[in-house]
Amino acid sequence: MRYWLCVAAAFVFAVVVSWTNPATAIDNATYDWMCRLFPVSRPAPQALIVAVDETTLKRRGGMRALRSTLAELLKKVAAAKPAVVAVDFTLADRGDPAEDAQLAAAMAKTEGLILGTDLADDGSGWQDPLPQFAAGAKALGHVHADPDPVSRWIQLDKAAGQVRRWALALEALAPGTVPLETNESFNWAGRHIPSHQVRIAYSASLPTVSADAVLESAPQSWEGRVVFVGTTPLTAAKDRLMTPLGVMMPGVEINAQLFETLREGRFKQDLPLSLVFGLCAVITIAAAWAVRWRYAAGAAVILTAHALPFLAFPKDIVLPAFGLAACAWLPALTGGVYRYLATRKQLDHAEAEKSRYQKAIHWVTHEMRTPLTAIQGSSELMTRYNLPAGKQREIADMINSESKRLAQMISTFLSVERLSAGQVPLKKERLQPGNLIAAVSERARPFLDRKQQQLVLEAAPEVEIEADRELLEFALYNLVTNASKYSPEGATVYVWAGSVGGNLHVQVTDQGIGIEPKDLAKVGTRFFRTRRAEESGIEGTGIGLSIVQEIVRAHGGRLEVTSQVGQGSCFTIVVPASMSTEVKSAL
Ligand code: ADP
Repeated sequence: MRYWLCVAAAFVFAVVVSWTNPATAIDNATYDWMCRLFPVSRPAPQALIVAVDETTLKRRGGMRALRSTLAELLKKVAAAKPAVVAVDFTLADRGDPAEDAQLAAAMAKTEGLILGTDLADDGSGWQDPLPQFAAGAKALGHVHADPDPVSRWIQLDKAAGQVRRWALALEALAPGTVPLETNESFNWAGRHIPSHQVRIAYSASLPTVSADAVLESAPQSWEGRVVFVGTTPLTAAKDRLMTPLGVMMPGVEINAQLFETLREGRFKQDLPLSLVFGLCAVITIAAAWAVRWRYAAGAAVILTAHALPFLAFPKDIVLPAFGLAACAWLPALTGGVYRYLATRKQLDHAEAEKSRYQKAIHWVTHEMRTPLTAIQGSSELMTRYNLPAGKQREIADMINSESKRLAQMISTFLSVERLSAGQVPLKKERLQPGNLIAAVSERARPFLDRKQQQLVLEAAPEVEIEADRELLEFALYNLVTNASKYSPEGATVYVWAGSVGGNLHVQVTDQGIGIEPKDLAKVGTRFFRTRRAEESGIEGTGIGLSIVQEIVRAHGGRLEVTSQVGQGSCFTIVVPASMSTEVKSAL
């Protein structure tokens, strides 16, 4: 669950990053690369470019004489009878009246004429051709390319104020069409155009003739052709744009390329956003799942995510390269790191288990050595020497009690080990805690006597509990002996018990070395000893309290600790009471 939450976070992050400008720049660069990798071939284009190029301008009076040059040119072009003549010039300003009249006359005689119009620089309106020119045109088409360093797509319709114009190249398909529009797609004279914004499919070149050549010798027949007339000289930098193919192209050629794209009707389309999102989600899940299984499988998913845009491109689908890659990389990395950390944790856990086992063995041997040494020594005494009967009896009793203690210790240790592994049910019985506490206090008294310590007992809890007597005794005995162990000679240990809010509280308070606040949460962790305890020279293993905690928890209770360094500590066993004795007697 936590793994998949991390993966989900990585997914969200990847999606957010994919929306940034650098990501878009990478998507665009990949798109351009794919355009070069999968070139468009056009064996029989309909478009023909008549280029008002450097030679034409040089030989025919330059830009100043453009309108008369254009007038002559149109006459020659019209004579070749092309289907459409699209003129990519903005002719919005008044020129020399005679020249303008000459051009207007030539235009009126040109069949299928379309004139270009551009948005005013401030976007406030259209720079339409002069009315006398427009009169001869079948349609006006916009020649506006959005300011983008690279011309990848064209907005087919552009509006300024109330007037909307269609792209020159679209008008060239069927001039003056009123399209049927539905949502995003529309129908242009029987052709389905999927979007108002189309990506231009650039081919390396389109047939181009110099205007100068046309003026020199009239062309034979351009029947059926769509002629694009425009300027191409390198000096007209404003009218040249970078294309995905990595070459600059004059505006007129870009229009002709767009025309061919529209004519062929093969559009490179971006996958709809919802599908991109879905695809990214699938990649994320695949990457996260794969990397969890094998790192190599994760790498394979990443490779696939990188390859997808290149596989989809020839099928005319444009995929966001960055988004797909990010949705594979980030979740895979997250999954990889997670898997690595999880393995580390497992190893650490195994190490800790091993060391815990070793320490437990150490504890058992350490704790058992004392009674064993006593038994061994006493039995040796008995066999070596001829002791009087009274002494023999005394030693036999001692051996008996020490071996019982040993057996008790082993059984307690084993039952707690099994208890913590969840293997044994508690041997629960209904008991009066008062009796149990008094019995434990009596057993611990000799322990306290060795340090001339007092034990003050105040325990009259009016409740009964359901508990495993042996284990609970062990727990309380541990707390009392700890209180004595970590207190100075002559100190007092208080044992208090009472019922608080339906629970039995048994509190052991001492006047000992205390526990620092930062260690409070750690006491009770197996083998943990405070620095103060270690430095005090008092022997210990750090296992007793963990067993106490285990026992109390198994009874559905908890162990509470409060302490003040140098003042003393207070350990409280809290276990649920089964019934108060008052209630019981009332019954
Ligand atoms: P041990 O006493 O064998 O080290 P325990 O599990 O009983 O192990 O206790 C764990 C640690 O908790 C002790 O090492 C000691 O640092 C701290 N501790 C337990 N009881 C007390 C106490 N009454 N006063 C101060 N520190 C205590």
